[in-house]
Amino acid sequence: MACAVTGASAQENAPGHSASSLALADYEPKSMLRVPETEVKHPKFPVIEFHSHITWSDGMGGRETVTWNDTPEAILAVMDRRNVRTMVNLTGGYGKGLEETIAGLATAHPGRYIVFTEPWWAKAAEPGYAEFQAREIERAHAAGAKGIKVLKTLGLYLRENVTTGKLVRIDDPRFDPMWETAGALGMPIAIHVSDPEAFFRPIDRFNERYEELSAHPDWSFYGRDFPSNEELQQARLRVMARHPKTHFVCLHVADSENLAAVSEWMDRYPNMSVDIAARIGELGRQPRMSRRFFERYQDRIVFGTDATPKGVEFPQQYLCDELYEIYYRFLETADEYFDYAPAKIPPQGRWRIYGIELPDGILDKVYRRNAERLLGMPHSV
Ligand SMILES: [Zn+2]
Repeated sequence: MACAVTGASAQENAPGHSASSLALADYEPKSMLRVPETEVKHPKFPVIEFHSHITWSDGMGGRETVTWNDTPEAILAVMDRRNVRTMVNLTGGYGKGLEETIAGLATAHPGRYIVFTEPWWAKAAEPGYAEFQAREIERAHAAGAKGIKVLKTLGLYLRENVTTGKLVRIDDPRFDPMWETAGALGMPIAIHVSDPEAFFRPIDRFNERYEELSAHPDWSFYGRDFPSNEELQQARLRVMARHPKTHFVCLHVADSENLAAVSEWMDRYPNMSVDIAARIGELGRQPRMSRRFFERYQDRIVFGTDATPKGVEFPQQYLCDELYEIYYRFLETADEYFDYAPAKIPPQGRWRIYGIELPDGILDKVYRRNAERLLGMPHSV
């Protein structure tokens, strides 16, 4: 499962391909910097991958089915080569789909896979949903689910009539019994809220994610009736404040472009942790801020990549050996100015990143100890 990048074709390099005719999409500058390049094929400690998508569920469709993005065995081969001991499949679905995911992953490969469940969004508009959803969480827990995944569906897609009407707020009281039940059962909530700030801005020449949004215009939340990033974040903070016994892992560093704000929230809410999935592009372009963040919150940061097998639309997180090597290099080395994704063109924006050279004590916690504690796993040796 390699992520090979093809080079420029002979035609592209031919004389007459003048600078003035070069399209932005064809521009692939090669750095002329001569700086150390460290290959990190293996992490210093065994890894718990907190954030992957081995299956997709039906989301707002409501069917109790899952689609498999790859076989558990193919993924295990990558895990073994890159010393990933355990992988969490966040999008494990609900109902019969969840049972299928647990059987194929956690039961078939004990210790290697952990499965989270998801809310049954299609029923959110039905009477009695609040109690139904809380009971479903109890059932999922009994079936073997270890946590709950909340996609940005909540806040940006789910509406009063599921797909139509007003957007349902993240802190809508109908979810309170679900948050409380999760806390009582010791199930962490892996919650993705909002997205990069550029997704809330016009797709114009000032937008630093112009290429990413041009390729995926449906990722834009600019205009229409979408709340701002700030409003979405504030709603999640109110949920964490209201449910202090429930632990929330705010995915993608909660708001990776504003670590000062995330630090304030971490100080205010002891029931908050973060993962770093799909955000080393952000963390690695502010290496000094990031390093201080890791030092200060070393007990509340978990390792994750957002690995998505065969997810060709997400080149920054395509599950392969190179994906893990880049994360290890970012966390462990002092290398400068390297690519944050196994892709030909930087998929999130045209910049490169710097390693933050974390000490062993912090690496050990981020790679595995913090996740072991959150997931109720035995302390590994
Ligand atoms: Zn994800």
